[in-house]
Amino acid sequence: MKKVLFTDIDDCFMSTVKKFREDEILITAATDAEGKARSFISEKQLALLEIFVNGGVELVPVTGRSYSTLMRVTLDSLLKSWKIVSHGAMIVKPNGDYCEQWLEYLHSNFLLEDWSEKLSYFNQVLSSSIRDLGLSARSYVVSEQGVDCYICIKCVEGTNYSNAFDAILRHSDLDLDEIKIHRNGRNLALLPPYTRKQLAVEFLKEQFGVEKEYLALSMGDSLSDIPFMKQADFSFIPTKSQIAGTLTW
Ligand SMILES: [Mg+2]
Repeated sequence: MKKVLFTDIDDCFMSTVKKFREDEILITAATDAEGKARSFISEKQLALLEIFVNGGVELVPVTGRSYSTLMRVTLDSLLKSWKIVSHGAMIVKPNGDYCEQWLEYLHSNFLLEDWSEKLSYFNQVLSSSIRDLGLSARSYVVSEQGVDCYICIKCVEGTNYSNAFDAILRHSDLDLDEIKIHRNGRNLALLPPYTRKQLAVEFLKEQFGVEKEYLALSMGDSLSDIPFMKQADFSFIPTKSQIAGTLTW
């Protein structure tokens, strides 16, 4: 039987150095825009990755990273198949081209131009709230292939992220009824209705014929990963993760 793992990347197969024990042996797993080591994989994470690779599992990243940021990952085995990027707003084919059928699906099912205006307005309000509050954070719209995918608010490392995000959202007082909020660590993302990892995984499952022929596996660490993880037959979580932290074991 064919096997596929739909997997989040950050805090599953790699993390920033602060998330590891000091004595752990780490290998560079992704670089920043300047080419400096930014994320690392531990020996245990690498051993888990090898289990999937040696088991002939097709690895499909399902990540908040944009395609260009995903390509800073230096572990080739994570980049060979389809890729779901920008929190589910974009799908990239194994050859590196953006998936045309997915772009057609987005354009015919969502009012993308209206959403661009709305996200741009939200971003202006959020940016001025950050300024008014004097916080060390910035807000920006992440776009790919002419589609505005989501708003990212990033805090400077070391600030009290949770308090900062609460203050920004309260001060902005935006109508976020149709927006899904993803919070993890120093990042907060405001996701419009078409930016959903779950939607993109459902779309790819149809492309693969997953229900009939594939064993579908999933892995994620954030609460916002759960809807896409539930699309699989079996799911994995790191035992130190946002999801695990909410469970009564
Ligand atoms: Mg993650």
